[in-house]
Amino acid sequence: MRCPKCPGMLEPKTYGRKITVQRCTDCGGLFCKPEVLLEMKREWMADAVLDSGDPKIGQALNKLDNIDCPECGTRMEKSVDERQTHIWFEQCPACEGMFFDAGEFSDLKYDTFMDRVRGLLRGKRPG
Ligand SMILES: [Zn+2]
Ligand SMILES: [Zn+2]
Repeated sequence: MRCPKCPGMLEPKTYGRKITVQRCTDCGGLFCKPEVLLEMKREWMADAVLDSGDPKIGQALNKLDNIDCPECGTRMEKSVDERQTHIWFEQCPACEGMFFDAGEFSDLKYDTFMDRVRGLLRGKRPG
C-alpha cells in the first residue's frame, strides 16, 4: 500500500503474535485498525518497536489534512483521542482504519500510562 502522506510505501510490521500494523518506509507513519490499536496499548514496548519513526517528521506531516485511506481510498476524517485531546489522528469512516504520524502512537500510549499513574497518586493523596 502507498502511504497517504508521503511518497513512501506502507509495509506490514509484526509485533508479538497478534499485532500487525502497516508502517511507512519513509515517514514512519502507522496505519492500523482499532482492534489492533487496543492490542498495541496492552503490549508493553509495542510502541517502541513499531513506532520507530522520527517524531519531528511526524509533527510536520500532522499538518497535512485531506488524506485518503490507503486501504479503501475513502477520504479520512480527523479524529481526536477522547482522553488525550492534543493527539489528532486520521480515521477512515468506511473501514475504520487509523493513521498515526510518527511519534503519535508512542505519545498516545505513554500518556495513557502516565495518566493512570497520576490517577493512582491522586487517589493516595491525604485530604
Ligand atoms: Zn509516509
Ligand atoms: Zn478505509
